[in-house]
Amino acid sequence: MRLREIYQRIKPAISIEFFPPKTEAGEQALASRIEEFRAFHPAFCSITYGAGGSTRERTLLWAHRLKHDYGLETMCHLTCVGHSRDELRRILEQLRDDGIENIMALRGDPPKGQKDWQPHSDGFSHAIELVRLARTVADFGIGVAGFPEVHPEAESPEQDLQYLKEKVDAGADAVITQLFFDNGDYWRFVENARRLGITIPIVPGIMPFRSLAQLEKFTTVYARTFYGPARVPENLRRRLEQIEHDPQAVARLGIDYATEQCRELLDHGAPGIHFYCLNESDAVAAILRNLNG
Ligand SMILES: Cc1cc2nc3c(=O)[nH]c(=O)nc-3n(C[C@H](O)[C@H](O)[C@H](O)COP(=O)(O)OP(=O)(O)OC[C@H]3O[C@@H](n4cnc5c(N)ncnc54)[C@H](O)[C@@H]3O)c2cc1C
Repeated sequence: MRLREIYQRIKPAISIEFFPPKTEAGEQALASRIEEFRAFHPAFCSITYGAGGSTRERTLLWAHRLKHDYGLETMCHLTCVGHSRDELRRILEQLRDDGIENIMALRGDPPKGQKDWQPHSDGFSHAIELVRLARTVADFGIGVAGFPEVHPEAESPEQDLQYLKEKVDAGADAVITQLFFDNGDYWRFVENARRLGITIPIVPGIMPFRSLAQLEKFTTVYARTFYGPARVPENLRRRLEQIEHDPQAVARLGIDYATEQCRELLDHGAPGIHFYCLNESDAVAAILRNLNG
């Protein structure tokens, strides 16, 4: 099923994002996580494309496994990093021929050690070009990234949203957002996008934090190169300050806070939740149980 049908038919559509593991132990762990999540009947699962395009083979392999071995609807991420147009076309053809119906079309970030974004000499500068190419290869469901807190390289919030509108007009079916901890940022983003004429589903991306170190990583360094950076709102900061010396309490707060975020989002009409589970199941499974209970 393609994204447009998924968001029409399944309300709310819960999706779960994995990354392709690098080791045999990681592969085994992911396989058991996927089994655990199957019990929650996710609308689809997605598999990331490694920073710097480093996981091409493993991403395609796990997209295949999710779809054909586990029978889950699958969205395969793809970035423009380090690929010529011909290579991107061939990857898209491979996905099409493998029966993968959904892709997440992304620009990607500069590889490690490279500060600024530079396109491949015969490649694409922006995700919109990948959306256009994908449209010529197959009738994919196409997801694109959206940034409630504005993409770090954007000229301005208005310009960032205008470029998002162009990606959507080029053929995207759903926007999936960067992680955020303040739902107000998401609602403002949705309102501004609707005002600009973006009508497709805008799906909140949620990541429950499990530790202060992890929260730090996603709100500062790592976030700059993948999903963020995301701001920690004052109310969360205050709650964290009271328990910061108790790792278990921090992990519990991560689950409670994300549950509260998801409840509020779904109660007010978000089309679904896209969970960044980081190949762990405990936190997201607990949140799903909270939401179902
Ligand atoms: C849900 C989600 C999943 C992700 N998955 C992955 C993954 O699997 N692998 C990975 O490496 N990264 C992933 N990322 C991170 C993503 O690759 C980076 O955030 C990247 O910096 C931006 O990608 P984009 O597709 O939004 O780029 P673009 O849409 O190209 O935007 C990048 C910047 O260029 C500007 N811009 C856009 N279009 C134009 C234009 N036509 N002319 C001039 N400027 C323009 C934008 O304002 C923005 O500042 C993901 C992000 C999200 C939110």
